[in-house]
Amino acid sequence: MDSLKNLPIAVIGAGPVGLAAAAYLLERGLQPLIFEAGPTAGAAIEQWRHIRLFSPWRFNLDAAAVRLLEPTGWVPTRPTALPYGGELIDNYLAPLAAIPAIGSRLQTGARVLAVTRQGMDKTHTRNRGTTPFVVRVEHQDGQVRDHAVAGVIDASGTWSTRNPLGTSGLPASGEESAAERIASPLPDVTGRDRGTFAGRRVLVVGAGHSAANTLINLAGLAQEEPDTAIVWAVRGPSAEKVYGGGDADGLPARGQLGSRLRRLVEAGTIELHTGFGISALKSLDSGVSVESVDGRLLDVDVIIPCTGFRPDLDILRELRLSLDPAVEAPTGLGPLIDPEFHSCGTVAPHGAKLLAHPDKDFYIVGMKSYGRAPTFLLATGYEQVRSVVAALAGDQAAADTVHLELPETGVCSTDGGTSCDTPATPAATQDAGCCSAPEPVLVGFPTGLAHGRSGSN
Ligand SMILES: Cc1cc2nc3c(=O)[nH]c(=O)nc-3n(C[C@H](O)[C@H](O)[C@H](O)COP(=O)(O)OP(=O)(O)OC[C@H]3O[C@@H](n4cnc5c(N)ncnc54)[C@H](O)[C@@H]3O)c2cc1C
Repeated sequence: MDSLKNLPIAVIGAGPVGLAAAAYLLERGLQPLIFEAGPTAGAAIEQWRHIRLFSPWRFNLDAAAVRLLEPTGWVPTRPTALPYGGELIDNYLAPLAAIPAIGSRLQTGARVLAVTRQGMDKTHTRNRGTTPFVVRVEHQDGQVRDHAVAGVIDASGTWSTRNPLGTSGLPASGEESAAERIASPLPDVTGRDRGTFAGRRVLVVGAGHSAANTLINLAGLAQEEPDTAIVWAVRGPSAEKVYGGGDADGLPARGQLGSRLRRLVEAGTIELHTGFGISALKSLDSGVSVESVDGRLLDVDVIIPCTGFRPDLDILRELRLSLDPAVEAPTGLGPLIDPEFHSCGTVAPHGAKLLAHPDKDFYIVGMKSYGRAPTFLLATGYEQVRSVVAALAGDQAAADTVHLELPETGVCSTDGGTSCDTPATPAATQDAGCCSAPEPVLVGFPTGLAHGRSGSN
């Protein structure tokens, strides 16, 4: 990187993983240039600040970030406590972003529109690896400017690109024009966003952890505002996988959540519609009519889409990427986290080697590195960026030595052979073995599927 060494490294996104990347870059004497689309660091988490994380503080803090914070008088958090999203921002991300070394290099209201190589489009090969990147950014003054950088770490998450309501991966007919009837994926139904849902007929779509949480919160709202009606649509033939294992569940918190949900459905508080793949939405004068592929109709006031997320790959169109065709994660990582086979957040620790793309010195990290898989954990992302920054600094030995004490999830640790039941790719075996460091702490993304989707039907 000799010709590039005076240029900064761009970090896209000031979420927990982007800020951790910046902390490692500073430790290595490299210059981060952080672009954050939102008004503050942690802008995506700000949208779900009312949701409690399922992993305790000790897995949510990055080591290099803590090293930056400690001299500032920052008060460490209780390692075993489970923070709300808002606490993750207030007690960790905001103080981190306020440290001058980070704050002076953080541009907020700065949305990255595209990344490319200076003077070359994707088809040009000669000198590609030694040519600076250009990051095109729309700044908060409305100006669009190009920034030359030596490397790019894309930590922009997936929050802004939710999956559509329609089946087949495409928006349902009429979905775009019904946009004003569709809420954000995790609204604060009993707090900030209460007015949108109180006394309304609300449809929750989806069969994951977010849907379960939202439905239970809506049930709380309905107790106070009895005119609130809760309708729940899932695509599958039953909601069993959301209910989990009840008292026998490997994850007690999931078991409790699932049991409460089951009781609410059985009591009629929640009206459940199974096998309801959405084909069309039609805006009505005072609501929206939702049609299933088999012709059933649900008329509701507002829809909460708990349908998951996908990465925004459009901004990377001019780069040479190597992505798993199904998961849209880096090729070596995809098979390890494919939701068809995996439900836990525990994968082999991995770093720069597994995350590399044909375009040298470009990396996707954090939530976005998992593509369409929902099981990403912060602890995984922190080790990703430690390794990636070591590689960018030319310290290949440190980049290759990936070490992460990531606990198994309840699902992993109760299914005997672990959930890592797809063959590891040769690239994957560079790092530690799949699920090789079990620890009796439960922390994963509790999807309730023992072997991913392939094990649920
Ligand atoms: C409800 C919920 C609960 C979760 N609980 C846990 C948990 O308990 N434990 C755990 O380990 N993980 C948890 N996760 C998963 C994951 O750790 C979080 O989603 C985490 O926020 C991911 O961090 P990130 O830095 O990769 O992305 P994000 O936090 O999404 O940050 C990305 C940032 O990039 C910005 N951005 C996006 N596009 C652009 C652009 N084009 N230009 C510039 N900036 C851009 C966004 O505004 C955002 O600030 C949870 C996720 C959700 C949704």
